[in-house]
Amino acid sequence: MCNPLSPLPICCCKDCPASTATGAASSANVGVSQKPDVKNTHVQILCADPDGKVVEVSHLAASGTIAHVNLKCQSKLDRLGAVTLLVDQKSGQKSLRASCSVHSKCVCWISNARDADLLFDWLAEGRRNSKDNHLNLAIELKRSIGMKVKK
Ligand SMILES: [Zn+2]
Repeated sequence: MCNPLSPLPICCCKDCPASTATGAASSANVGVSQKPDVKNTHVQILCADPDGKVVEVSHLAASGTIAHVNLKCQSKLDRLGAVTLLVDQKSGQKSLRASCSVHSKCVCWISNARDADLLFDWLAEGRRNSKDNHLNLAIELKRSIGMKVKK
């Protein structure tokens, strides 16, 4: 797992001007939405390695591809993966899908829209694991949030 240098993730969410903006009217936005409608990209540092490599999350949008996870080494940026918010057309049920860019056909889908942080962590682990290990971590992640996973 990542060992952040700081126990608190550095995030500029609360300073984001979009957080004070009124939420856009949307038919998909039923009920109370806790998350601000983020329009500006902002970057969250997920973890930093002793060798200077930094894993960061670029928050992109409130729907669709909501974030990219990147590995930054000096000026070089490598994509580790992306997280997409999925909304079921019929039920309105939201879920999240993380697509790993390190391995092909390596994804982790979870049945809620709350645990994006777990998917960011999972994507950050891709570079340190084989595809099989990474997919096993995905199964562990799903079980940790109470999903039933068939092996
Ligand atoms: Zn992977």
